[in-house]
Amino acid sequence: MRKFSPRLNKIPESAISEMNNLAHLYKAINLASGYPDFNPPQALIEAAVDALRKGHNQYADTAGKRSLRNAIARKFSRFSGLEVNGEDHVTVTVGGTEAMFLVLAALCEPGDRVLIFSPFYENYAVGLHLLDAQPVYVHLRPPDFQIDREALRQEFKQGAKAIIVCNPANPSGKVFTEEELRFIGSLAQEFDAYVITDEVYEHIIFPPHRHVYAAALPGLFERTITCGSLSKTYAITGWRLGTVIASEEITEQIRLLHDYITLGAPAPLQTAAISALDFPDEYYAEIARQYTEMRDIFLDYLAKSGFGYIPPQGTYFVLADITPFGFEDDRQFCYWMTREVGVSAVPGSSFFAEPVHHLVRFNFAKRPETLHEAGQRLLEIQKLR
Ligand code: GLN
Repeated sequence: MRKFSPRLNKIPESAISEMNNLAHLYKAINLASGYPDFNPPQALIEAAVDALRKGHNQYADTAGKRSLRNAIARKFSRFSGLEVNGEDHVTVTVGGTEAMFLVLAALCEPGDRVLIFSPFYENYAVGLHLLDAQPVYVHLRPPDFQIDREALRQEFKQGAKAIIVCNPANPSGKVFTEEELRFIGSLAQEFDAYVITDEVYEHIIFPPHRHVYAAALPGLFERTITCGSLSKTYAITGWRLGTVIASEEITEQIRLLHDYITLGAPAPLQTAAISALDFPDEYYAEIARQYTEMRDIFLDYLAKSGFGYIPPQGTYFVLADITPFGFEDDRQFCYWMTREVGVSAVPGSSFFAEPVHHLVRFNFAKRPETLHEAGQRLLEIQKLR
């Protein structure tokens, strides 16, 4: 048989999927993949049933159902202060995953350099490899993940088509400040690069941190492409609804590709999601409060179990330091913990371009009872070791 594409050699198995599968095999509590174990608002479930019954079962407008696009635009304008409209600026995609891939595919030529802050979410580099573009990693060192401004400037100077900014950042939990985003934006302007953001955790922010939309900063809209998702904000990761918000010119190219790659996100779920976008401000305040509570429950168990950790400023992830347990390698630790402790996490090294082997990522988007059960198991970790 002829060989597969050599591109595949650059693509490792997803560490997140590997750990999910292992959690399943050992019946461990799965704190690896980033999804909640609670239901979305009941109103959304009802709306989905209703949409199916009312016959929204065929393709929607491929750019996304118009009324959904308009609702997404309204919500984005409400939170960012930047006026966008559904007709010209919004595309509905199959999750944030398709959104990011479309953006990279629309922008990148083979050989293009794209800057990525490391640690990073695994999809970015894979997307670039598929396009024969080159990920260039700019290290943010734990535990404070500060930007080395001179190093960043040098990378832009050497030529960068774009920079990807995950804000709030998976897996570090870093929330970029307005000042940092302005700095990144000023480099993008100076060196004529695009700013691609991944803002799927925009509403999972712990005070006093606050979310700033890069696209809404002065002068940045034309070169900023905002990838988003309804998955995290409304606890509907399985609905696969993502968004790209960008200038008219970029949106046109995104839609061109989207038509061929997936054609469209699930039509009944697009219909159902419209009501979510018009939830009042209290909904967002309430989820921020709930996630703060989940974070506090879980961090308390981490501390009591002997883990160090880097307090997240946003997202529902925490990077925990496994140094006290005497493992050489974070991957071996995750295998062992899944098997022996009954809790799974993702090895931190899978998110870092540089060798970092003392961190693991836990997802704490779980019901209190799940967090308590996982926490009780973690309290035993010293004895089991
Ligand atoms: N974005 C989520 C995470 O980082 C889910 C990804 C996945 O399951 N592959 O865990």
